[in-house]
Amino acid sequence: MNRSNMDKTIIVGTRGSRLALFQTDWVIAALSAKYPDLKIEKKIISTKGDQILNVSLDKIGDKGLFVKEIEAQLLSGDIDFAVHSMKDMPSQCADGLCFAAPPAREDVRDALVLKKGYQGLNDLPQGAKIGTGSKRRAFQLKQLRPDLEVVAIRGNVETRIAKIETMALDGVVLAAAGLHRLDLTHQISAYLEPNEMIPAPAQGALCLQYRIDDLETGTLLNALADRETAVCTSAERSFLAAVDGSCHLPIGAYAHLDGDQLTLHCVFGDEDGNALYYADVKGTAAAAEKLGIKAAETVKERMSMNMSVNPSTVYLVGSGPGDPMLLTRKGEMLIKTCDCVIYDRLIPEDLIRLAPENAEKIYVGKAASNHAMPQDDINELLVSLSYRYQRVVRLKGGDPYVFGRGGEEAAFLKAHGVPFEVVPGISSSIGGLAYAGIPITHRDYASSFHVLTGHFKDDSLDHDWSVIAKLSGTLVFLMSIANIANICAQLMANGKDGQTPLAVVSKAASADQRVYEATLATAETALPLGSIDSPALLVVGKVVTMRETLDWFEAKPLFGKRILVTRSSRQASRFSEMLENLGAKVIELPMIDFENIHDSELQTAIESLHQYTQLWFTSENAIKRFMTALFESGRDVRALGHLKVLAIGTQTAKWLKSYGIMPDYIPETFTQEGIIDHMQSVLTAEDHILLPTAEKARPLLSEWLDGICRCTALHIYKTVPATVLQEVDDIRKLIETAIDIVTFTSGSTAENFDAFLKANTLTLRPDAKIASIGPITSQTLKALGYPIDIEAAPHTLEALAKAIMEVPNETL
Ligand code: SAH
Repeated sequence: MNRSNMDKTIIVGTRGSRLALFQTDWVIAALSAKYPDLKIEKKIISTKGDQILNVSLDKIGDKGLFVKEIEAQLLSGDIDFAVHSMKDMPSQCADGLCFAAPPAREDVRDALVLKKGYQGLNDLPQGAKIGTGSKRRAFQLKQLRPDLEVVAIRGNVETRIAKIETMALDGVVLAAAGLHRLDLTHQISAYLEPNEMIPAPAQGALCLQYRIDDLETGTLLNALADRETAVCTSAERSFLAAVDGSCHLPIGAYAHLDGDQLTLHCVFGDEDGNALYYADVKGTAAAAEKLGIKAAETVKERMSMNMSVNPSTVYLVGSGPGDPMLLTRKGEMLIKTCDCVIYDRLIPEDLIRLAPENAEKIYVGKAASNHAMPQDDINELLVSLSYRYQRVVRLKGGDPYVFGRGGEEAAFLKAHGVPFEVVPGISSSIGGLAYAGIPITHRDYASSFHVLTGHFKDDSLDHDWSVIAKLSGTLVFLMSIANIANICAQLMANGKDGQTPLAVVSKAASADQRVYEATLATAETALPLGSIDSPALLVVGKVVTMRETLDWFEAKPLFGKRILVTRSSRQASRFSEMLENLGAKVIELPMIDFENIHDSELQTAIESLHQYTQLWFTSENAIKRFMTALFESGRDVRALGHLKVLAIGTQTAKWLKSYGIMPDYIPETFTQEGIIDHMQSVLTAEDHILLPTAEKARPLLSEWLDGICRCTALHIYKTVPATVLQEVDDIRKLIETAIDIVTFTSGSTAENFDAFLKANTLTLRPDAKIASIGPITSQTLKALGYPIDIEAAPHTLEALAKAIMEVPNETL
């Protein structure tokens, strides 16, 4: 401390309002505490802002309004330093002057002072009148309560509070700091937390301004500095400077420091408040200024992208516990029509595939190699996506609000003015138990259930175990895999019977579901702790014993089996559904597709249908193709009235029936040989058969018919290798390790599958079983070197599913 400062009297300039005087006195007291000998004198200076009282602030000019006269006196040497509210300071300090590092700031929040009887924003009646002079407050208030009427008011703190009476307002919004400083804290009805209303940049902080060349005063003032306030206000004001904001625009910025981690939340809006743009950025304390600039870039980018566009609704959709079929109808509709879906680890792949092909799919869960996206970044991402897309689906495991941080996401969206809706899902805590054969309550055993987290911050178990151990209902612990032993120990230590049954359900409602049973006392030794696959939950209670009788899911004949279906995607669904109903996990990898050929020949045949006596179909594809061409030619089924119709099997017959045609003949054996047997005695030399088939169909039938009657075999479609849509690496994992059974329903699926493996150097898991629909397909498979483990008889999909089901489980 330089002697000269001690000797002379330092003059501090301040505005004359009660608040300004209070702030100045506070600084004088702080300085005097540090330097008891220091002589300080106050000089009150009236500013333009103090003189024009009847006009709303945003109409009369810039932030400099309250400071220009004071700065002039600093520059002329009439005063040595000045005390301002930092939020009134323009983003740039005047030439020749500078700011000392600020002292610790007061409460940063905005506060509501409401008419008697109201306790918070939600108490206010529809259309209540709230006074504020700031666009930042006005627009954010409107986002919280669009029905409110915001009335422009001005004046010092006391005047504004008085306006509740004089202007018949329901309340006013003020900075909490000012109210505290003026000893008016008792007037505050409710605080608006920064996540509801982002405060003005540097709200609650004081600004000590002095001449840049007056190092002595600078040293004196900097002794009051508070690091956190300095870092936070520097980020906030850097945002203010970078958006180049004035009082005309709503601008808010709020930074907080956690160790060295600085988070900055910002809002910026256009003049008429059509839209507010938000940014939330994080970085180190040292990067405070840069963060402000980054946030400004973000809001500007958002603004330029959407000029006056409002955010679209974000749907928080629960996916259910694991089985993709447990998604709600509303959830399905939303995924199918969204243009962006953002999802995490627990979401079944099949659900992502429901989204339109060109929808953006964003994975934010943990992958083996990297970490999950931090929650703050997910929140922020949801906000920006809502500006970019018309329909954003945030797909979350189970129910969005049962742990999993859905509530936080919703609150963040709300705070950022983004509309959201929640589509509940079946929580694993309920659905997972149902699939494990455990009814969460059962009259005889439990009259309540309790869902608890088993994951604790800092590894400390912070539940009140003495209460939990006394609950007689079923206890379900989610996120508990690492803490099972601990949880059991706590429950027993607090009096729960060691004989209480429990189960750990891993990967519930999926082909990999595993359930391990034990009791509280035996859990540590009886459970394979450490090697249970996640996700898993722990259920404690007598209802677990019901599993013995009620386990329906794992009891399904094909439970846990992964079956590859190689049929064309157009044909696969019926077969897949059959297998799924039997409990299998079906993976569709279509190996064939169909292409129409010989259009004009088919057309000619249709025009001369009168020549034929019979029409034979040996595949459902031929039926579809033929009937479509018939209809396109302007005819309908009456054009077939004179023909006897043959279907090779019951399924083909079903297809014909769907077109209103009852086949006259269905052979007992569904092969070409079967047709020969069946038709031998029926045909005469007068017959002329039209036989629309696939290009590669075996010529057996037409050759046989050759000596009996006339036959026109028409190749109307051909099978081609399907384009494989999945990534080869994903398929490799399936084929080489996961698949238990590969099904082939035609020779071409077998040929294309084999070619696909070779082209991508994939090796089928050695113990995977090969299932073939019939002898012809088996022949092709054998020729390619595949042993046949399962063959259907008769050659139908139903029979194939049955044959797979009948293979003893232990051999699979
Ligand atoms: N919102 C989710 C829970 C999210 S917390 C819900 O309602 O289900 C994540 C925890 O849920 C996991 O740690 C695990 O305990 C549980 N969980 C989710 N899916 C599961 C599943 N398929 N099988 C077992 N536990 C599951």
